Amino acid sequence: MTQPEHLLNYINGSWQASVGGQVRANLNPANTDDVIGAFTESVTVDVTAAVDAATAAQSAWDAIGPVARAAVLTEARRLIGERVDEFAAAITREQGKRLSESIGETNRALAILDFTIGEARRMNGVTTPAEDPRTIAMTFHRPLGVVGLITPWNFPLAVPMWKVAPALLAGCAAVLKPSPLTPLTSALLVQAFADAGVPAGVLNLVQGDREAGAALVDDPRVAGISFTGSLSVGTEINRAGSGRLMRTQLELGGKNALIVLADADLDDAVEAILHGAFSQSGQRCSATSRVIVDRNVEQALLSRLLPRVQQMQIGRGDAHWADIGPVVNEQRQQACLDAVARAVNDGADIACGGKAAVLDTPGYFVEPTVLINVAWDSEVAQEEVFGPVLSVITCDGYDEAMRIANSVRYGMSGTIFTQSPTLIFQALNDFQAGMLHVNRAGVGSYAHLPHMGAKASQLGAPECSPDVWNFYTDLRSACIKY
Ligand code: NAD
Repeated sequence: MTQPEHLLNYINGSWQASVGGQVRANLNPANTDDVIGAFTESVTVDVTAAVDAATAAQSAWDAIGPVARAAVLTEARRLIGERVDEFAAAITREQGKRLSESIGETNRALAILDFTIGEARRMNGVTTPAEDPRTIAMTFHRPLGVVGLITPWNFPLAVPMWKVAPALLAGCAAVLKPSPLTPLTSALLVQAFADAGVPAGVLNLVQGDREAGAALVDDPRVAGISFTGSLSVGTEINRAGSGRLMRTQLELGGKNALIVLADADLDDAVEAILHGAFSQSGQRCSATSRVIVDRNVEQALLSRLLPRVQQMQIGRGDAHWADIGPVVNEQRQQACLDAVARAVNDGADIACGGKAAVLDTPGYFVEPTVLINVAWDSEVAQEEVFGPVLSVITCDGYDEAMRIANSVRYGMSGTIFTQSPTLIFQALNDFQAGMLHVNRAGVGSYAHLPHMGAKASQLGAPECSPDVWNFYTDLRSACIKY
């Protein structure tokens, strides 16, 4: 029986099952009776075949130049732009987020395509005075070579697009290995690029998990790995690749602080906290997971925040009335509940939520949860929960707030609410985090700004923005005597 193409790998221009013959069921996290499909589960041999194809395709793709490559991306942009609803429905069905969030994610993916297409005529080097007479000195970019793109499940379209679009524009042939929890969206994405005219072998897709990812990292023909995911897997990849000096771009976890000082606009702060902590059920690297609030306004803030959290309607992502959808799977649901239990054990109090939500649909729902009286150095205040669990930590003034904000090993985003211009600029200087927000929600990014963290949230070049070429290209200098 022939299987639907989207359940398969895409290698060298054709859809094919893993030679291992294994499959993995993909379930709708809001309704586990809805089996999206049995997706092929790649083994090392499949990955080797994908890297063979990419290696063979690399030089011809490089040779056509960035403007011709951008024309193919422009066609992909048209095809995906016509199918926003289809992509959004796929994201909601396999990842769980609310449909409006999935539409937002699809538009973010299109924004990075728009930005990348424009870069075809802007991937500039410099010309610079030479030290010798009658000599011109300059720099220019060359493609890095075959790249491996390994992605998580929380942004099943945007994160793959953040990698596929610049890889292709730069002239790199690529092998995409998405999360096994969200294989459908990546299959649709790769199909759109194939339909747009990406030549066979230039973009390959291998479904699967750890074995496939590790095989990609270990293949010496892969010049670089762009990885988004957990700190532990990112560290493993870095260790595995460092022996052959493989280039890595690692976008990792976060434990993001939102500071509320005594002079803050509390109504604005509440809106930012609700969005930052509970959109996408808190499953984002930049999610607001710690509110660090000045003791003088803590009660006033909580009296505004808690009723709003308690009023949130939990439901399937495709229910228009739902304020918060499920988490991605049973393991994530249990991890959230375990984190809350350990936090209580460490002295925190549950101000609201804290339990699994049981609905009339079989799915993995967690009540939006606010923990108060959280010690700044307790586990829940230091480690990523990756779910709708917010810790509120009390502080006295700016200095203590910033010390607590910077006390974690991560450094993805940092947010402050204050009316003081001095403290705004002081905070921009002091935050040990890559993406900073002032008097606005601590999530979201622009295609033309670097998406990046500090400390253990990031290693290597940022994603998005012209800085992304520092991963996908090699810089060359040239001196020309005339
Ligand atoms: P994960 O690290 O478990 O998996 C990420 C990817 O790595 C998956 O495709 C997985 O199959 C693959 N993988 C697993 N083991 C591997 C190995 N040994 N070698 C190579 N590949 C391997 O992460 P996840 O649970 O999918 O995603 C959640 C994490 O992603 C969170 O920590 C979150 O903060 C992070 N994240 C970061 C960003 C960012 O931009 N920094 C964005 C989104 C998510």
